[in-house]
Amino acid sequence: MAWRFALLIEPAASDESRTDFADTLTPIDPSAPALSIGELSTQRGDGIFESIGVVDAHPQEVQAHLERLAHSAQVCDLPAPNLAQWAQAVSVAAAQCPPGECVIKLILSRGVEHGPAPTAWVTVASAADNTAARENGVRVVVLDRGFDSGAPARAPWLLLGAKTLSYAPNMAALREARRRGADDAVFVSSDGVLLEGPTSSLVLRQGDRFVTPAPGAGILHGTTQLSLFAHLEDRGFETAYETLPTAALLEADAAWLVSSVRLAAGITAVDDAPLPYDPAFTRELNDYLLSPRS
Ligand code: PLP
Repeated sequence: MAWRFALLIEPAASDESRTDFADTLTPIDPSAPALSIGELSTQRGDGIFESIGVVDAHPQEVQAHLERLAHSAQVCDLPAPNLAQWAQAVSVAAAQCPPGECVIKLILSRGVEHGPAPTAWVTVASAADNTAARENGVRVVVLDRGFDSGAPARAPWLLLGAKTLSYAPNMAALREARRRGADDAVFVSSDGVLLEGPTSSLVLRQGDRFVTPAPGAGILHGTTQLSLFAHLEDRGFETAYETLPTAALLEADAAWLVSSVRLAAGITAVDDAPLPYDPAFTRELNDYLLSPRS
């Protein structure tokens, strides 16, 4: 089995202030059964998660991930996480990492059916080898997400914009992309607005400006995109959040799918139509994303 480490967390109240939560973090055998059969995360996908990239034992953008965990908890009516406690759990997990790339997952579930408390745990494992996507890019297909752009405001119970454990549709979209001969997908709303990938944010280059779909459209606000925009601004580029039609992808000077573990994958083709791809610039972006970031 691949290398893995896991910690169970006894969630503390969000306002519990102390300097050490070590007694609430229990290392567990990652290959042994650990969850109750009544877990709502496994029965209903009722919970939230985060995936944090780790490079040479440095966890990237921890604060941004913790803030998004808190946002997802709020959207899902889960108890607010104690961010100092989760930060300590991330440090403990990262300290286990061998040199190279790892991924830390934070999971907060509604808990056991009829149980009083949420269940929380952290895992860390070696990351998959993403060299091919980073260096050669990815071919994508455009897939209808099945919601129009008014759905997030009209139907908040869809939990759009929260990183919930209900990723089965996202995985199905990736399988559909592969059936169509592509590597990945870009979701659009049913009224033709660009959204995100099933596991990534979309960034387009238009001349010397970089744009990404506005998070209000019911997409996750990506920590990688946020970090990349800060870096691009430092380099003097303009960045913007916009409502973008599907045509903007086809007309872009370059485009990337960006996420915490795979980092920047340049899009080389959209529905079989080639898109300009800049391997040297993409390498620079990934060099930045692999550098220690916080
Ligand atoms: N959008 C979706 C649906 C995702 O699943 C992810 C990451 O898993 C992202 C965007 C990118 O987020 P991040 O850059 O924080 O990994």
